[in-house]
Amino acid sequence: MGRGIETKCIYGDSAKFEGEQTGSISFPIYQTATFAHPAVGQSTGYDYSRMQNPTRQQLEQVVASLEGGVDALAFSSGMAAMTALMELFQPGDHIITDSDLYGGSIRLFRSISRKNGISFSHIDCSMENVELSIRENTRAILIETPTNPMMNVIDIRSMAEAAKRHGLLLIVDNTFLSPYFQKPLTLGADIVLHSGTKFLGGHNDTLAGFLVTGSPEVSEQLRFIIKTVGSGLAPFDSWLILRGIKTLPVRMERAQENARAIVDFLSGEPRVRMVRYPGIPGTRAYEICRRQASGFGSMITFEVESRELALHILKNTRLIPFAESLGGVETLLTYPTTQTHADVPLEVRQRNGITDRVLRLSVGIETKEDLILDLKQAMDSFEASV
Ligand SMILES: *Cc1c(COP(=O)(O)O)cnc(C)c1O
Repeated sequence: MGRGIETKCIYGDSAKFEGEQTGSISFPIYQTATFAHPAVGQSTGYDYSRMQNPTRQQLEQVVASLEGGVDALAFSSGMAAMTALMELFQPGDHIITDSDLYGGSIRLFRSISRKNGISFSHIDCSMENVELSIRENTRAILIETPTNPMMNVIDIRSMAEAAKRHGLLLIVDNTFLSPYFQKPLTLGADIVLHSGTKFLGGHNDTLAGFLVTGSPEVSEQLRFIIKTVGSGLAPFDSWLILRGIKTLPVRMERAQENARAIVDFLSGEPRVRMVRYPGIPGTRAYEICRRQASGFGSMITFEVESRELALHILKNTRLIPFAESLGGVETLLTYPTTQTHADVPLEVRQRNGITDRVLRLSVGIETKEDLILDLKQAMDSFEASV
């Protein structure tokens, strides 16, 4: 039997920190751009930090181990990982994506990948719709699940079946649940993408991104891309993410517990019209999520009764900052329509239900009663102000 995930978060799969002679418990930060060679034609295994650096390599081994991949590559941000991923494709290639995606990914596809000759179909990723959208030049299916921000859940196994049947790559952005709750490679995905800025880093203090794969061929292609385009993660940032990952399991559990309490509170609030969280029994999202993940995470999207109330809440929370991003120890409140999804065309936003009454909460690990009291006072003070 392999190691448990909590152990992997601290050590990965390696026995000890190989090559580390001092006994340092914390993996060292190799803050160097280049490495001396013993002689012509010889290498210590490291030549130049754009290609590889021991601190980045340690982080990559831990992330590969968590996702059950043969290789993981660490990039300077989630978008740098997505940009490198697009280099796997050629002009003329077609990619099927879900229509509810991180806004930055949609901006990349529309403004840069399209210019490079790659075309996209943004669809609601049910098996039937995917089959209907496959063309002769389709190369990949790219999904996020749960989706950002509407918390729809896509069946990863059925997407993997469709991808296998047509010889496509299945790419899953696993940022929202992290490998602690969901491991898409074990469900048939070919490549997992992460914004490591979010749950993996966990402290809202560092940007990072990952591509993880179970295929040695894809790994070889991605290794060529990362050393060529030069978007690998810096040594100090690699160390910060390594440090963050050590507490991933305890943070994920605690944030989920807080999220459940907040979902209960919001569901009982008359001014809240809709709560989207995959852990609410009786929904389709719940049934699929239960089969493919070991938890429901700590992201909640909810709709309040008016735009004015949404704006009032954003301005009047005392503890919870109004800020983009997610997955950190601090609870953050986001307004998707003007922040994360501002660059998504209006008709797509409307179709997905991202109205100006929708707020997104990334629940952190504070005392849950404090979070609920803060949301409650922000809503109650609206009553008083009108
Ligand atoms: C934040 C995010 C990204 C982009 O990652 P950055 O680290 O901000 O570049 C991609 N996908 C999802 C789901 C995200 O939340």
